[in-house]
Amino acid sequence: MTPGGSTPTGDSRLPGGATGARADLLVAGADLVATVDDTRREIAGGWVAVTDGVISGVGGPSDPRPEAARTIDARGCLVTPGLVNTHHHLYQNLTRAFAPALTGGLFDWLVTLYPLWARLDEEAAYVSAYVGLTELALSGCTTSTDHLYVHPRGAGDLISAEIAAARDLGLRFSPTRGSMSLSVKDGGLPPDSVVQDDDEILAESQRLVEAHHDRAPTAMTRIALAPCSPFSVSTSLMIRTAELAERLDVRLHTHLCETQDEDAFCLEQFGRRPVDYLDDVGWRTDRVWLAHVVWPSAAEVGRLGAAGVGAAHCPSSNMILGSGLSPVAELRAAGAPVGLGVDGSASADSASLWLEARMAMLQGKLRHGAGSMTARDALEMATRGGAACLGRTGEIGELAVGACGDLVVWGLEGVRFAGALSDPIEGWLRCGPVAARHTVVAGRLVVEDGVPTRPGLDEQLAVHRRVSAAMQA
Ligand SMILES: [Zn+2]
Repeated sequence: MTPGGSTPTGDSRLPGGATGARADLLVAGADLVATVDDTRREIAGGWVAVTDGVISGVGGPSDPRPEAARTIDARGCLVTPGLVNTHHHLYQNLTRAFAPALTGGLFDWLVTLYPLWARLDEEAAYVSAYVGLTELALSGCTTSTDHLYVHPRGAGDLISAEIAAARDLGLRFSPTRGSMSLSVKDGGLPPDSVVQDDDEILAESQRLVEAHHDRAPTAMTRIALAPCSPFSVSTSLMIRTAELAERLDVRLHTHLCETQDEDAFCLEQFGRRPVDYLDDVGWRTDRVWLAHVVWPSAAEVGRLGAAGVGAAHCPSSNMILGSGLSPVAELRAAGAPVGLGVDGSASADSASLWLEARMAMLQGKLRHGAGSMTARDALEMATRGGAACLGRTGEIGELAVGACGDLVVWGLEGVRFAGALSDPIEGWLRCGPVAARHTVVAGRLVVEDGVPTRPGLDEQLAVHRRVSAAMQA
């Protein structure tokens, strides 16, 4: 551990290093503050102050602390940056653990569920996002993406409905405008009822960026563009979406290298492996982050890393669908930003980002030995790695002055942690299961003492049950 220094904001710095400005929130007395900042400072007895939604100070026990409107006692706790979820399909929690789709691999699973998802509408998008983002916040997530690629005809504005849910809850949200344009009749996997034509998809993508995309460093809402996958989207849509993202200066996301079935599909349809196809359509750039990345060859890992293409590692989903073990250590070594994703709630079923961090640690050890992946590596992927995937390095995913005021207070006491005395970060990820005690976004508590702060969850769960039952009927 390195001793922590006080880092007050420039305009509130007083002679002697004390902070004069009153903070909105002070989290103080933590067993450990794991900043995951540029120097990876870990501060025993540390504190974090947030003012106007932004971190205004980080320090240790001997550093002068600012006065604050509210102080949270973090004794017995680990404080980390808020976790960043880089891949999800929130709407899929409407078909969680769906009995007829429990044993298929990716393609069988999709073909079973597409007809149900064709019933998606604005109410379903809102309530699934509300419940799904609440679930994420309880696991310490403060920023989530979503990949909503099913847009049935006449379903309405599903992305705006999701954004409304994120706003109501106070979570930072980066939905991607997903799309499918290649149906069964054109050699793709999805049925005709859930695909759209290219012009409609691109027009809608541009409209959503213009309506919602906030370029400010403290943005609560950003939009990215996200054709679903090589087996559900035309080549022309991949190319035109990349061109549109360049023109609008927004990020690009898709699924790639998820299964060996996908390798076979790409070889048969395009005569190319998935990463070669990515090159062909102009997607091997640092504007892109990819979900899964399980099956790239060693040479392809090098090419992705050299281009700065990010990867959303989804360890639970990759296991539950039998997809495989992603070469995470190799991707990181090659220079690719690697974040974590809970993936869709109908494949991974659980949507705890803490659990994905633990799974990432365990899979890393399984793949290359016990010393190859630590809790710190997993924490880094869950925070800074995710920020890098979203093009938000310095804005989120670290506790540093000027970054967004997003943090999590994790209790390290009670039965689960008895005896875990020597390393709070390893203890946090090895012991458990763990949920957040407090989840803070932009200085506001969205989870307090393990409970969502916004009233009305029971009512939303009742709506969710009704909508889910209708979808599964
Ligand atoms: Zn996915």
